[in-house]
Amino acid sequence: MKCGGVNNNNKFVTANVRTKERSVLMLCSKRSIISSFAHRYRSSHSVHHYKPLLPTDRRMGPLRKKKTRFKVLLMMGTVFVCLLYVIERPFWWDYDALEAPLWNEALETRDDEQHFNYNSSYFVNTVGCKMPSFPVTNEQIQKFIERPEPIDCVPALLEADERWIWFQLSAEDIERHYNVTNASMIQCCIRPFERLTDQEEHQVGNESCFDYPERFTVREEEFVMVNCHHAGARGDPFYWDYFAFVPWKKSIEQRLRSRKDHHPEMVEEKGDRQQQEQKLNVMILGIDAVSRLNLHRQMNQTTDYLLNTLNGIEMFGYNKVGDNTFPNMVPALTGLDIEELGAACLPNASSTFDLCQFVWNKFGAAGYRTVYAEDSSAMATFNYGKKGFRQQPTDYYLRNFFRQMESSVGYNKKLNAKLCLGGRNPTRVLLDYARKLVKTFGAREPVFSLLWAVGMTHDFFNNPSLIDDDYRQVLEFMNEQQRHYLNRTVLILMSDHGIRWGSFRNTYQGMMEERQPFLIFVLPVWFRAVYPAAYHNLRRNRLRLTTHFDLYETLKEFLDLAGLSTESIRERTEELLVAKPIPRGISLFLPIPATRTCEDAGIAPHWCTCHDHKPLAKNDHQVIQAARFAVDRVNHLLLDYPQCSVLHLNSIEDASVGMSPENITAKHKFSDISVRFVTKPGDGEFEATVRIDSNNDSFLTGTVSRTNLYGKQSFCVDDYRLKLYCYCAR
Ligand SMILES: [Zn+2]
Repeated sequence: MKCGGVNNNNKFVTANVRTKERSVLMLCSKRSIISSFAHRYRSSHSVHHYKPLLPTDRRMGPLRKKKTRFKVLLMMGTVFVCLLYVIERPFWWDYDALEAPLWNEALETRDDEQHFNYNSSYFVNTVGCKMPSFPVTNEQIQKFIERPEPIDCVPALLEADERWIWFQLSAEDIERHYNVTNASMIQCCIRPFERLTDQEEHQVGNESCFDYPERFTVREEEFVMVNCHHAGARGDPFYWDYFAFVPWKKSIEQRLRSRKDHHPEMVEEKGDRQQQEQKLNVMILGIDAVSRLNLHRQMNQTTDYLLNTLNGIEMFGYNKVGDNTFPNMVPALTGLDIEELGAACLPNASSTFDLCQFVWNKFGAAGYRTVYAEDSSAMATFNYGKKGFRQQPTDYYLRNFFRQMESSVGYNKKLNAKLCLGGRNPTRVLLDYARKLVKTFGAREPVFSLLWAVGMTHDFFNNPSLIDDDYRQVLEFMNEQQRHYLNRTVLILMSDHGIRWGSFRNTYQGMMEERQPFLIFVLPVWFRAVYPAAYHNLRRNRLRLTTHFDLYETLKEFLDLAGLSTESIRERTEELLVAKPIPRGISLFLPIPATRTCEDAGIAPHWCTCHDHKPLAKNDHQVIQAARFAVDRVNHLLLDYPQCSVLHLNSIEDASVGMSPENITAKHKFSDISVRFVTKPGDGEFEATVRIDSNNDSFLTGTVSRTNLYGKQSFCVDDYRLKLYCYCAR
């Protein structure tokens, strides 16, 4: 079969279609028309001079010309409509009345916008928020990008999956890496352990041993410590390792079975209606301190797979709401800000988080098994400078596993994290656990899991590139080997904020990216057909201002999927339209109002990226006023801590003034001055946004950010907030 088109010699060749298959014929004809159209267009507009069609056309009579033109127009119309349908079924295709006047903007859901190189000056361009866009890379950014040295961990002697532990190294490799000459003499012994408190573990059950090259069968063990020695030289192990497994736990299964609405099993293949009634697994794969653009920059294998193979939905306007992990994850997991959380469930400074209501508690009550794992116990969200949990917060909780691993087989420490845990990087250990979760519970049993990776990315702009393969592989594993799992799962990939210190952070784009973490949803393929209104709202919200508060509202949707039916979305949208004030957190399955400002969304001006910033001179009187004010506030915080030196303003590094959208500045007259400065003693680098109002009064908006590492400078204070500022007098 041959179709008309432009051949290699740029000559138009006539259609020569002899097939009887209509669809193929149609496709072929359309291609001919498109080629022909492109050919004509180019011949008049481009410097390449294609041979025009005129000579052939002139030989036709006027009637034939008209008919041909009509046919061409008709077919172009058909092609256009078909293309529109294929690219994106328009919003009104599924339901029409929802687009009430308040939301009547042009459709924004073309697939090409899916990608980071969305060609616009703004990531978000609405009445309430203008969020300037930035490139993934250019010459200025390139200076900060380097391939980090691979993490050199000694290859692990043992490997495990959900059922076995076995020797993965050959006898030669064992000799090379562990200096053991006779592998057949190796014996490994396993000791299971469990959590006592957040800071303590103890051994449970008996030790069991296996010899090279046997493998060990995992039964009910959850966490195990393994040590290996030469038979005959007991007590002198040459190798230690740790593994976490996902055993079925009787008490949890009983709890779930005793629920009134317990349904025996989720069945894998069901019709659309039945899909609607089932529970979806929720798996959150978090990577600490990675901005949306840095994800594209450093982890393009993962991003490519997420967006192009799994059709992930990426939120372009995701703006953080607090400084570091804790004030950002609290809103995502509880719907509260940290002050509200304190008032709700932390009566005093020594309170643990046991009384707080986390989203996993809701999933637990709704019949889910719950999982919470963080790959760094030293920097754990609820333990670093805080009191953690008395009771373990979720059914499966990996803090103690990582605590043991970090303290016993952690090495290669760079800044805050140990980058080798035994023979693997911390993220790899976490993702190996994710695989076991998927294999154990599969699609049949609903699980809520939060798997948070901190160690590799917390401190280094370029380090996400070191875990790109690990994430890509785990996604491939889920999609290719465990397809039924993704068919019953909403997968959420996210970060809490961007990188918070370092040379890139000190650029304007780095400052903005610090405030713009990534958030990507991967929904089951059938979701779009069953919940069209919810799905289209989510896609539209990609280009809206969104926050961790919205994520919490979105997570709750999976507790009751009936709320996502088109009828329910319609009713809830009507309620949202008249709500005053607009709720701070809005489910991403509802239309986020285009009028939404940072203030509406609970984002302090210091963290708001909806402003266009205009640079200011370092010696501008308002800049100096702002910097002095910020230093003064920091000193005020340190008043009760005489061990901390009084800080003095040493230099101003740069400054800008936030240009708010007009509707905000019309209401309030003020300037938001962002200033970066260095203090003495200690050369602490800070950044603050100070609001100077029409009375020349100054206010701090948000907290003062520390933009270089304080390291050991703050050893003399325990409060994690003061550690950012205190320079211990020696
Ligand atoms: Zn963080």
